[in-house]
Amino acid sequence: MPGFITKIPKAQKHTPGLFASISNALLDLIFPPRCEHCNRVDFRWCDDCLADLNALPIDLQERRILNQLSAASTGSHIGLLQHAIHALKYANVPTLSEPLAERLINALHQLGWAVDCSVPVPMHPTRLAQRGYNQAALLAHHLLLPMIDGLERIRETRSQVGLTREERLQNVQGAFLAKEDFNEKTVLLIDDVLTTGATLIGCTQALYQAGAHQVFALTVSQANS
Ligand SMILES: [Zn+2]
Repeated sequence: MPGFITKIPKAQKHTPGLFASISNALLDLIFPPRCEHCNRVDFRWCDDCLADLNALPIDLQERRILNQLSAASTGSHIGLLQHAIHALKYANVPTLSEPLAERLINALHQLGWAVDCSVPVPMHPTRLAQRGYNQAALLAHHLLLPMIDGLERIRETRSQVGLTREERLQNVQGAFLAKEDFNEKTVLLIDDVLTTGATLIGCTQALYQAGAHQVFALTVSQANS
């Protein structure tokens, strides 16, 4: 609220960083950070769980969505993998994108898909501002491929939770737009979780409209829709 900010006395304007760090330190004392997986009081993701995540085998799961898109994931959206994605998205642990991207690289190697570039599923600017980063872009950034952040979410889609498969597909219709020309490119769409595939289909349609030759999708995990 700009009106509120103008009312802050001048002296306080110079110390927001200090104030925020004192508040955070106090909050950490009252509510110490706990590991998202094992719940131990430590960091948001502890070293033991990081070692477990690095050792978790790839459980390659392939799916064809609406006969338009070949998609694959590195495992089921349960347990360790589910918690790691949750920590990446909601507990401000962006460094988890590295071990999770390592899984994507291994999966891509197994799949043998010959792609020209990766494209992260975009977030709506409002949500991006809230989180500070797009987890799909972090994942794509670590892949050994040129990344084109070439899609935008032009419409905020309401939460997909509780919608039927048909409703989800309708919900993303026209929600994405390509900002770049994908002329003749074979694209690898990247996202964290695959559920119904509605988001991936929305992105795929935007990529084909922008001239893409072929689109594949790879996600860290796959949940039953
Ligand atoms: Zn842990």
